[in-house]
Amino acid sequence: MSNLASPLVFDGHNDVLLKLYRAGGVSASKSFVTGRDGAIDLPSATLGGFGGGFFAVYVPSPVDLEFKFEEMAKPTYDLPLPDPIDWEDAFPVVMSQAAILFDLEARGALTVCKTAAEIRATLSSGKMAAIFHIEGAEAIDAELNTLEVLYRAGLRSIGPVWSRSTIFGHGVPFRYPSEPDIGPGLTDHGLRLVKRCDELGIMVDLSHLNEAGFWDVARHSSKPLVATHSNAHAICPHSRNLTDKQLAAIRESDGMVGLNFAVAFLRDDGRMLADVPLEQMLRHLDHLIEHLGEDRVGLGSDYDGAVVPEELTSCAGLPKLRHAMAKHGYDDALIAKLCHENWLRVLEKTWGA
Ligand SMILES: [Zn+2]
Repeated sequence: MSNLASPLVFDGHNDVLLKLYRAGGVSASKSFVTGRDGAIDLPSATLGGFGGGFFAVYVPSPVDLEFKFEEMAKPTYDLPLPDPIDWEDAFPVVMSQAAILFDLEARGALTVCKTAAEIRATLSSGKMAAIFHIEGAEAIDAELNTLEVLYRAGLRSIGPVWSRSTIFGHGVPFRYPSEPDIGPGLTDHGLRLVKRCDELGIMVDLSHLNEAGFWDVARHSSKPLVATHSNAHAICPHSRNLTDKQLAAIRESDGMVGLNFAVAFLRDDGRMLADVPLEQMLRHLDHLIEHLGEDRVGLGSDYDGAVVPEELTSCAGLPKLRHAMAKHGYDDALIAKLCHENWLRVLEKTWGA
């Protein structure tokens, strides 16, 4: 490992669009280029070798995020899910955040990619590659008309729920300790959504589904099962993490899991406290690799959406993670797979070549 800013990290989840939306929308895009107080911007990405990933469009609930993280810092917690959000309220927010993504593209900060080949070409040109992802399908109508239009606008990945219930299904509340088997799964609308996503080539993200929803997708989707930002339940028994049985199904489908940097899903004690050594991330990676194989594990930072380990608060810190992987005994080929190769493999399989 001569250059610790490589291999480039292409990662399963970030919330920088939400942060820019809250900071004023398109007018805040410039800070992404010049530098901002947050986890991802161009200067930090260059320093850390962050090549991009899934850029989530997410409709926030009126609930205070600071309060949520405060609750999750306690030894046990069981957060009620916020109320559902109507299509009429969600759609404009999705349009605003998607507009920020395309504004970043217009500024030359990134390229919105629709194929694995485009991602590969963008990464090798030295530019940031982004996938247009929606976390929580509130802005999709029951007829799926918005899905059709958003697909043509570049949407290539969607989570039927961000934990909060939608017309498509019920998600997993934030509870520690807890099994992920809480509540009902997908609705009939949800099953139709999965079917149409499979036909179009939109990846269905399992990360915020509860276990019933996970198995609904497993039964009805013909595609690899993917959890973009989730960890091992055997190490951190949080409702958001994946049991070994779920990992076996993901392996069977030739899908993958992106390691979530959020400390509440990393720590054995499930607390949202940032003093987490990088070795704790390696423990999850070891477990995921043991159960999924080396080809089905990647990263899913949750950057700009969660409290992350102190050493990795910005993507400029990613060389420390590569260093920890090498020190832990991962060879160059495995590190390249974890950093981006596995995402490219699974996306190619999901979207078609
Ligand atoms: Zn999430």
